[in-house]
Amino acid sequence: MSKTVALHTLGCKLNFSETSTIGNQFLHKGYEVVEFKEKADIYVFNTCTVTEHADRECRQLVRRALRQNPNAYVIVTGCYAQLRPEEISHMQGVDAILGSNEKLKLFSLLEDFEKKELACIYVSPINNSNEFGASNSTDADSRTRAYFKIQDGCDYNCSFCTIPLARGNSRSMEPGSVLTEFRHLIARGYKEIILTGVNVGDYGKSYNAKLYDLLGRMADVDGNFRIRISSIEPNLLTDEIIKLTQQNEKMCKHFHIPLQSGSPKILKLMQRRYKTEYYSGVINKANELIDNLGIGVDVIVGFPGETEEDFIVTYNFIKDLPVSYLHVFTYSERPDTKAITMRGSVDVLERKRRNNMLRILSDKKKSLFYESMTGKELEVLFESENNNGIMKGFSSNYVRVSNNFDPMLVNELSIVKIEGVRDNFCRGNILGNKKSVDLIAC
Ligand code: SF4
Repeated sequence: MSKTVALHTLGCKLNFSETSTIGNQFLHKGYEVVEFKEKADIYVFNTCTVTEHADRECRQLVRRALRQNPNAYVIVTGCYAQLRPEEISHMQGVDAILGSNEKLKLFSLLEDFEKKELACIYVSPINNSNEFGASNSTDADSRTRAYFKIQDGCDYNCSFCTIPLARGNSRSMEPGSVLTEFRHLIARGYKEIILTGVNVGDYGKSYNAKLYDLLGRMADVDGNFRIRISSIEPNLLTDEIIKLTQQNEKMCKHFHIPLQSGSPKILKLMQRRYKTEYYSGVINKANELIDNLGIGVDVIVGFPGETEEDFIVTYNFIKDLPVSYLHVFTYSERPDTKAITMRGSVDVLERKRRNNMLRILSDKKKSLFYESMTGKELEVLFESENNNGIMKGFSSNYVRVSNNFDPMLVNELSIVKIEGVRDNFCRGNILGNKKSVDLIAC
């Protein structure tokens, strides 16, 4: 009987794509990949360290895995492992700790997965690393969406962020290799490719390449698919990328653009690379050019020095922005960051209250955006899950759409005329799949 492995991811989409690659490495070596809740011979945790909560969650998960199989071989990798290997080595039951450079080289470092008395630590310094560990994550069953890592690391130095410490300098996959892998994913039937990285907009520096050129070359590939940028910094969302998104039907009509704070004072303390006027300028420009554009915004509340007044400035700034949803994060102190040394720590309960206020604002914006889709025709990619006769999917502009289950529409780009909103989903009439609707229109 083959040995089993269970993998668990904490954090971002980039981590998900890397976990998927680790899972495939195990499959190629003859292991069976099982669900995390099952008993496994090996457990792999791909960790995050963006918030304090992620560290704690990792510790709890290791304990849970060992309850499922006290003799399991436990591997911890990812950002937390890169930054705190010694701390992890003290966790009972952990056998191996792999840093960011070592994450995808598991089989050359750990041969036998035999438990030893002390944990092995393989963590090399990440500064000046030029290594790029290629990975992508794909839904093996439905073949709908693939997360494709094209960039890693970050050269920015936002004062709250530990990611550059954990993942190193900005570096990218070579453009020719990106296109080869991209074509491969399309040939395998994936209809949506989500480009991921730590700072995707920074793609290509060392190759003298630009994200805009790469997007154009991807969109020129034959096939029925669409491309989504997972997230892009406002200063890197150029006019040419906005225009390409407007003009090319293969580009999703959706941007996720981190803001972090709407208060000029806090934005400066965060060492972000733009001012609020610049941010709103980008949002307005994109909205003017692209019909029904979906825009998501990251924001952090409770940053040191954020007074009630500063928070209200942020609240009102976002309230007036034509965006469709928010991802709200509560600031948490991270070791080795500049922000942890700043004065004006915000009370934890107050941070929670501010988070709650912005979440309510996000719900309102999202529901207004969904309502505004009534009467519009959206391109939707339906997923394979049959939930009591209902299927779900995302539109190009990142609206959740549900409809009666129809196996013929799974993993097809369908055109849906929206009739209204029910239970936080848009619903409507399916006019056909994109290819046939295009033919009728011709
Ligand atoms: S842009 Fe700022 S927040 Fe984003 S990864 Fe880089 S340093 Fe961190």
